[in-house]
Amino acid sequence: MDKSTKQEDIVLICIDCSNQFIFSAGEQAFYRSKALSVPKRCPTCRQKRKANLVPDETQLRSYREVGKMLPGNGPCNEYQEGNSDDK
Ligand SMILES: [Zn+2]
Repeated sequence: MDKSTKQEDIVLICIDCSNQFIFSAGEQAFYRSKALSVPKRCPTCRQKRKANLVPDETQLRSYREVGKMLPGNGPCNEYQEGNSDDK
């Protein structure tokens, strides 16, 4: 089997709660298509931060990158569930 041509789910550690979470192959493809870096937080902590409207420095930087390609899109349109790619 040639692993280099196949995306696989990877396990990441959340920097907030230190829990492991799955960064699925589908999410990896989605992040790459949006020029986003690998997430540092689990989905739970991400939603918490979003709910508290705490901007994440890394994500803000990504927004600027994404903004060049998608004018008019703001932080409100950020990554939701990983399968929301509308292409
Ligand atoms: Zn977490």
